[in-house]
Amino acid sequence: MPPFDETFDWIVVGSGAGSFASALVMREAGYSVLILEKTGFAGGTTAKSGGVMWVPANPFMLAEGEDDDLAKAERYLDALQELDGAPASGTSPAKRRAFLEAGPRAVDFLVAQGVALRRGPEFWPDYYDELPGGCKTTRTVVAEPFDLKQLGPMQSRLRKGFAEYNVLLADAMKMGHRRTNPEAGKMMLRMALRTIKDKLLGRKFTTAGAALQGRLFKAAIDAGTTIRFEAAVTQLVTDQDAVVGVAVSVDGGQKVIRASRGVLVNAGGFAKNQAMRDRYMPGTNSEWSLVPEGDTGDLHKEMERIGAQLAQMDQMVGYQATISPGSEANYVLPGAQGLTGKPHAILVDQSGVRYMNEGGSYELYCETMLKRHREVPAVPSWAIFDSQYTAKYQVAGQFIDKKPPKRWIEERYLHKSDSIRGLAHSIDVDPARLSDTITQWNGFVANGEDAQFHRGARAYDGCGFVGDPFSAEPSLGTVAKGPFYAVPVVPGDVSTYGGAVTDECGRVLRQDGSVIEGLYATGVSTASVMGNVYAGAGASIGPAVTFGYIAARHAAGLDNAA
Ligand SMILES: Cc1cc2nc3c(=O)[nH]c(=O)nc-3n(C[C@H](O)[C@H](O)[C@H](O)COP(=O)(O)OP(=O)(O)OC[C@H]3O[C@@H](n4cnc5c(N)ncnc54)[C@H](O)[C@@H]3O)c2cc1C
Repeated sequence: MPPFDETFDWIVVGSGAGSFASALVMREAGYSVLILEKTGFAGGTTAKSGGVMWVPANPFMLAEGEDDDLAKAERYLDALQELDGAPASGTSPAKRRAFLEAGPRAVDFLVAQGVALRRGPEFWPDYYDELPGGCKTTRTVVAEPFDLKQLGPMQSRLRKGFAEYNVLLADAMKMGHRRTNPEAGKMMLRMALRTIKDKLLGRKFTTAGAALQGRLFKAAIDAGTTIRFEAAVTQLVTDQDAVVGVAVSVDGGQKVIRASRGVLVNAGGFAKNQAMRDRYMPGTNSEWSLVPEGDTGDLHKEMERIGAQLAQMDQMVGYQATISPGSEANYVLPGAQGLTGKPHAILVDQSGVRYMNEGGSYELYCETMLKRHREVPAVPSWAIFDSQYTAKYQVAGQFIDKKPPKRWIEERYLHKSDSIRGLAHSIDVDPARLSDTITQWNGFVANGEDAQFHRGARAYDGCGFVGDPFSAEPSLGTVAKGPFYAVPVVPGDVSTYGGAVTDECGRVLRQDGSVIEGLYATGVSTASVMGNVYAGAGASIGPAVTFGYIAARHAAGLDNAA
């Protein structure tokens, strides 16, 4: 064991939401905490995200009189495991129960620490709400918008969010439907007035993931947590098989720091490591990922090196993207979940055949696309839509009914034709096949039922994130009125979803199921407690926060059941 340069009670690798939750538990228990962050910014992918946390039976739901409880949520998570055939090795009934029991307590704890949270968008159902125990309203929790000025000199250290406005995520989602939602105009006006007022008062708001991480970052700093930036952990230091500290590359040198109560790995996934992607999920591409640069799987490799079991490594939280010319450089690549999920649009493979319910979870959508590609070329697939669509909805973040960007046509991203046959020729798809697919789709719409893939049958398909809840028919609509359009859709992602196997206390396990003493992990550094399925909005950050909370309580000796 090398000599140590310093000692802290609790060392956290990375600055995800679970990192901060764990720091708050430890600081309240009187222990010293060091967070080591590889990049120059706190917050990780979580800061760039929607910041939605999936927490069944959360205190906000119960306060609103919602009928939800642990047993119901457990039935739902168990039903998800059945969906996937073989059980996932990174989850277990005990771990799911631990997550469900602790989730609402973690939310209460954070609120008591001054982190202002609230119930998420009111209509964001579970992604398989039709299954036993599924929820048709929302089990989500989000942060209140956050004034970045509250961070003082640390403001520049928070990773940028994707929506730097004083707006609730629920309202932002409603405003996105501004041509069909009669309230959207008034909401936008209210937001503009709020922005002027904030400017006059010297406030600068952010929302979604940056609001969550801004609030947690501030609470952690106020509680006395030490945070170091550009401090990449390169090694987990062991003594007789237990983790006792870390080696960190900082200020151009190496330091070895002792952790007297444990190390928590919350270092994200490997979405930006193409070699790991090629090994574990061939056919996927780091350039289609919306995840920031620090997500390179360093700690996956390091945990494996010291004997940790990795599981579910072929899983990602897929997120279909349609990358229009110029948008490759966007902070957030344009998503396509609301493109093919809305009325008057479908998705076809390169042979012109429809092959999925375009309304389902984005994780399942991309998994289905990658599976299809093994049989028929389907990466990219084509989003096909018509002028009824373009009159109401956006494509890659823009309304294109008046004048599509010239580059989109010139660079053959957007294909447009007055006829289906002309469109098929343009995208090199068999015209007869595409016509048949669209005729069949229009027949389903006429009958009010997608007899093939049941799009629109579950509540989630029609929610604002996917469909159009402001239309009489939120999911189904004919593709019948020219001009007709096509754009490519690829299986991007918002995270990888596999990693170290942990137990119900957040401790990292070896292949033989034994515990690696001193080592805890949370977030997408771990194999998800959800198994191979994405339960609902927030299925990544909800467990990340909860297991950060659980791990710290265990390491602090507050919950030592296992
Ligand atoms: C646009 C977008 C929207 C999303 N919306 C949601 C949502 O609303 N809800 C949801 O649940 N999920 C959402 N996701 C997915 C979700 O954001 C991620 O799965 C989740 O934030 C991962 O959290 P984490 O705590 O595991 O890691 P992160 O938040 O990424 O934190 C890990 C940190 O570890 C650091 N790190 C890495 N290696 C080292 C090292 N060697 N040493 C020190 N530090 C290191 C990284 O730089 C990073 O800062 C979204 C993702 C995106 C991109």
